[in-house]
Formats: sequence, C-alpha cells, structure tokens
Amino acid sequence: MDMKYDAQIYRPPKEYKSLLLQVTNGCTHNKCKFCGMYRYTNFGMESLEQIEKDVIEASQHPYYSKSKRVFLLNGNPFVLSADRLVQISNIIQKHIPTVEVISCYASIKDIENKSEEDLRRIKEAKISDLYIGVESGNDEALKFINKGNNVEEAVKQMSRLDKYGYYYYAMVLTGLMGSGEDKAILNGRLTGEMLSKVNCRGIFPMSVTLVPGTELWDMYQRGEYIEASEYDRLIELKTMIENLNPSATALLSSAHNSNTMYIKGIVPLDNKRMLSEIDEILKEATKEEMEEWIDRRRINL
Ligand code: SF4
Repeated sequence: MDMKYDAQIYRPPKEYKSLLLQVTNGCTHNKCKFCGMYRYTNFGMESLEQIEKDVIEASQHPYYSKSKRVFLLNGNPFVLSADRLVQISNIIQKHIPTVEVISCYASIKDIENKSEEDLRRIKEAKISDLYIGVESGNDEALKFINKGNNVEEAVKQMSRLDKYGYYYYAMVLTGLMGSGEDKAILNGRLTGEMLSKVNCRGIFPMSVTLVPGTELWDMYQRGEYIEASEYDRLIELKTMIENLNPSATALLSSAHNSNTMYIKGIVPLDNKRMLSEIDEILKEATKEEMEEWIDRRRINL
C-alpha cells in the first residue's frame, strides 16, 4: 500500500490489526520529561485530501478494505476540533463501511478542550476508543515530568468520557520518581486510587525507561536523577493493584517490554491472583537478580 507516513509510527499493542491512518504528526504538548517519541517532529495536521487519498488506497487492499478498526496517528489526534474529527470519520466510513471503531491517543487537555456537544458528536462518529497517557495519580510526579495536567483534572476529564460511553485506556508509568521503595509505594497507591474513581476499560502499566535526548536522560547524566530499581517498579505495580477498586471492571495488562514482569487480569476480580503472582516473584528473586532481568539501555521504545 502506498499510504503517507511521515514519521516514526507508535501504536498501542491492541491496535496491531488496525488500519493506521496519518491524520496528524507529532504531539502538541511534547514536553514530558521522559518522552522522546516526537521530540524532533513538529506538530502538523494532515490535509483532508491526503487522508481521503490514503483511505481510498486502503479500501482497495484485500485486508484493509474490510477493516473493523482504524487507529489515527500520531501523538494526540484528539486535539483536532470536533468538526475535523467528524470529517475524518465520514471519509473513513464512506470508503470503508465495515469500520466499527476509530481510536487514537488523547491527552487530558485535549478532552478538556472539548465541549459536551463535541464529546457527544465525536463518540457518535465512532471515534470511541482513546488511549490516554495518565502516567500517575501523584501530583508531585505529574509536575516533575511536565505532564501538563494534575490528578484532579485527569479524573474530571475521564469522568466526562464515562458520561458519553467512550472506551478509554489508561497508560501508567511506574518508576517515574526514581529510586526508592517509599516513592514506589506512594505512587502506586495514588495511581490505584485515581483509577478507582473512573471507569477505564484498560489499564496498561509501563515503566520509565531513559531515552537519550530527553530531559530525564540529561538529569540522569548529571546525577540529578537515579533510576528506580526493578524491585521498586514491581512494588509500585503491586501497590497500584492493591489500591485498584473501580466500580466497573477493567483489563490490566503489563504486556509492554519496559515492565519487570508480565501480568494480566481483570480488575478488581483478579486482583488477588495478580498480587499473589507478584508476591511469588518477590519471594523467589533477590533485588540483584531482578536487575538482571531487563537491560533498559537495550529496550526499543
Ligand atoms: S508522553 Fe505523550 S503527551 Fe507527553 S510528550 Fe510524549 S507523546 Fe506528548
């Protein structure tokens, strides 16, 4: 297929079968201290003409012509106006009528900037699955990484999505505050408490990994930031699960290569089983052994 892709593509694992459609480039925020994804990419919108050309191209492909899901690229397409998002959806549905769900990354600010009517229209246009980098339920951590929103705002905006029946997935990061079991326990608890107040469909923990060129990397090089140990990260994940008790069930999956261990279950139904799996690892492996499990300098993010 000859579709237009200008930059490095990032997509959640769940979207591995989806048609990937470029509607923006980069991320409008681009200030998170740990993130190097779009550091050298200026934010830009793809033209509707090009988007339609790409969708027509996909509609002639034997597999993508029957797509059920389309994932809009790149860092936060939900920043686009409701009018533009609906136009994009109309183009997709005109040429690939089998599409049932359109998904994309979204930031808390993007949601905040939408009116109630916007949220209703966008959801109605099948743009109904959002991946949100909420990162942490700890205000201190969010401030430290320059996330651009606080915990209260995150809860408020995710609750607005609940009102309109969006499916949204919270990506959280263990190890953000660096080395120390006390920090891990605090972050884990606050993140668990935050996610218990909303009804996200999925909770996808990842773990901070230093990327050259980012502010966090520079701090590390200057000795101003000490990475969390693998043990700390596991303790944070464990504490988060202990504190997760949302009123609706959510899939929790740590199937990301930045995590110390793979864990999967339905929150809160499987909390006990997931916690016992983590406890078993904590009992069996020493802290030193855990450090051998992941070479963070080799992780390809
Ligand atoms: S983490 Fe997300 S919001 Fe932050 S700079 Fe990276 S892409 Fe943008």
